Amino acid sequence: MKNVLLVFSLILLTLPEVKSQDPQKPLPNFIIIFADDLGYGDLSCFGHPTIKTPNLDRMANEGQKWTNFYVGASVCTPSRAALLTGRLPVRSGMASDRHRVLFPDSKNGLPSSEITLAEQLKTAGYATACIGKWHLGHKEQYLPINNGFDYYFGIPYSNDMDRLQGDAYNDYWKRPNDSIKTEHFNVPLLRNTEIIERPADQNTITTRYSDEAVKYIKENKKKPFFIYLAHNLPHIPLFVSDKFKGTSERGLYGDVVQEIDNGVGKILNTLKEEGLAENTIVVFTSDNGPWLPFKLNGGSAGLLKAGKGTTWEGGMREPTIFWAPEHIEPGIITDLGTTMDLFSTFSTMAGIKLPDNRILDGVNLSETLFNRKPSQRKSVLYYRGTELYAVRLGDFKAHFITQGAYGEFGERQEHNPPLLYNLNFDPGEQFNVAEEHPEIIEQISVLVKEHRSNLVKGKDMLADRE
Ligand code: MG
Repeated sequence: MKNVLLVFSLILLTLPEVKSQDPQKPLPNFIIIFADDLGYGDLSCFGHPTIKTPNLDRMANEGQKWTNFYVGASVCTPSRAALLTGRLPVRSGMASDRHRVLFPDSKNGLPSSEITLAEQLKTAGYATACIGKWHLGHKEQYLPINNGFDYYFGIPYSNDMDRLQGDAYNDYWKRPNDSIKTEHFNVPLLRNTEIIERPADQNTITTRYSDEAVKYIKENKKKPFFIYLAHNLPHIPLFVSDKFKGTSERGLYGDVVQEIDNGVGKILNTLKEEGLAENTIVVFTSDNGPWLPFKLNGGSAGLLKAGKGTTWEGGMREPTIFWAPEHIEPGIITDLGTTMDLFSTFSTMAGIKLPDNRILDGVNLSETLFNRKPSQRKSVLYYRGTELYAVRLGDFKAHFITQGAYGEFGERQEHNPPLLYNLNFDPGEQFNVAEEHPEIIEQISVLVKEHRSNLVKGKDMLADRE
């Protein structure tokens, strides 16, 4: 009997602690604010000297600023797929070596077999809205409405698509900003599945997106809600409403970021006014790094190397803030996190079981957010298309392949032994320390082998175009 009791108590001790949702407590609301092509160095709380982002700064002061937070890919479509599915896009087929993102003539989109965060939260009765850029398929079956969202208001792909000016766009950075008109881009604005405006007036789109989010909060405050607010900007071409034109010392790019920041302020204030702030988790981040070839009109990765399209830090490390006053322990978090972790984290907070019929690439960050415990994430995989280019393990990152993007930062190059950087000492990836640390390269190689052993690549959903 004694032995049986001992075994039983050992089992209890070794079982992971499962926190069940307190039935008395309302389920938390979630808001993800996702900028497009905003760089690591583009917010004042992440060191930009002339872009003023008082609302995001306040969010960082009252919440957690994550300085080692990553996306699942360095371009729009796969990055968004990673966030919404909690999986590396190579698994869902939303990463491709033929076309890096979806285009207005792409035939496909996110496979219906994928479970989005919205679908997951709906199982617990959440009201779900997608506001802004979708970019996971513009045909009806792929739209947000058919991927777990009750409501959609936005441009279904990038704001530079459906070009009416042809090649003129390619030398955009050389031209005066006022020669680029919103009418040059015939992008549609959708409400649910209907086109309500075409071309969408991009001058006012940023504020309209934020206002839609405010409206959705007010209309759905009685039930738990999830809002995925994915701004089309500051992706090129840059547009700003009259109220923000000329407000930033950083020029048009700064004006645009400040308009996004203003919307963040409206959302946080609404949550406070409605008494929802303590029970709403707000996350702010960006889908990938800055689009550097656009020079003065592109953003800045700050002290990080390179930008959008690359697996250097500037392409995939994003300025990230979590906010929920009284709930999230304020501070600066240097532990690792990724957008794929939001799926696991929010599911757990809402008391929803994670799907067990697929590999998820996220971890639950709740203990770090609420109790400042170390993050469960110890590594980051940097994919370009369907190829693994680099791996971060703890402080170190090994590059097996490097490649620039959009004509900058060099051609594809394989490295054997890999380049190795200590990112805590050297976030700008300047000093290769591979020779000094063969043991780290060995550990990373083991991790890669393990990862590859169960990797099944999904059917390429980006390849086919009309
Ligand atoms: Mg982007």
